[in-house]
Amino acid sequence: MMGMKVAKHVDQLRDIIRFWRGQGLKIGFVPTMGYLHEGHQSLIRRAAEENDKVVVSVFVNQMQFGPNEDFDAYPRDFDRDCQKCEEAGADLVFHPDNEDMYEEDFITYVDMTGLTQGLCGKTRPIHFRGVCTIVTKLFNLVTPDRAYFGQKDAQQLAVITRMARDLNMNIEIIGCPIVREDDGLAKSSRNTYLSAEEREAALVLSKALRAAKEKIEAGEKSAEVIQNFLKEAIETEPLAKVDYASAVTWPALEEKEYMEGEMLVAVAVYIGKTRLIDNVIVDIAE
Ligand code: AMP
Repeated sequence: MMGMKVAKHVDQLRDIIRFWRGQGLKIGFVPTMGYLHEGHQSLIRRAAEENDKVVVSVFVNQMQFGPNEDFDAYPRDFDRDCQKCEEAGADLVFHPDNEDMYEEDFITYVDMTGLTQGLCGKTRPIHFRGVCTIVTKLFNLVTPDRAYFGQKDAQQLAVITRMARDLNMNIEIIGCPIVREDDGLAKSSRNTYLSAEEREAALVLSKALRAAKEKIEAGEKSAEVIQNFLKEAIETEPLAKVDYASAVTWPALEEKEYMEGEMLVAVAVYIGKTRLIDNVIVDIAE
């Protein structure tokens, strides 16, 4: 260990942050739910390049999970996470208990209209309220100069960017590219749920997105054509069930009959019981 610190409690975290702030150090922050992989590590590495100190939080935030979602099953391995954080250049890992983050009589939420209604918000109606609330709490604790989010969760990146701007949080939100397995599957902690057969089937997400991108680059401008193309491509895989396949403006997430400018082409697909997401951002040629 090269001296990476672990804080389990809010007070421990605040003490360390106060000390760093007193030295005038710039702080980069990477919020995660743990079970870290190369995707998370790419965010930590980038934060280490651009800041004096890097804080990573590892907290599976129950508030952002629906009643029938996978909160209990969500994979956890804190010792391994600490190794991955240190390897990637983190200085402090914040790993609070639920009780540390939420008082029993907690009643305050950060919520958003518009951006959170479509895409994942349709099937996960309380998800982004949970995300905005925990990220705000973590921002208040860590007081970062910059915070790093993966484009893997593109809607989340758009939501957090807007929240930070709307609420004058004075934190630079930095989006980072999707890290993929060699065969194209976007890395995700949830990939551990997949059986060998499902892992193979899961390739259909990135394959369909790649094909849709090519179609757009070849001149297709109709959002509906692209959406239908994606649905059909994904449903050729018997284990796959489409939750949504959408092409919306980036980062406003608005529907448009004819695509123009930067567009987010995004899918959510059940592979067996596991819900996976993936996307690509395309710049539509004039
Ligand atoms: P999570 O632990 O899934 O909540 O993710 C924590 C952060 O890591 C989020 O900002 C994610 O977008 C980001 N992330 C997760 N998977 C990837 C990936 N494959 N590539 C890039 N960033 C990722």
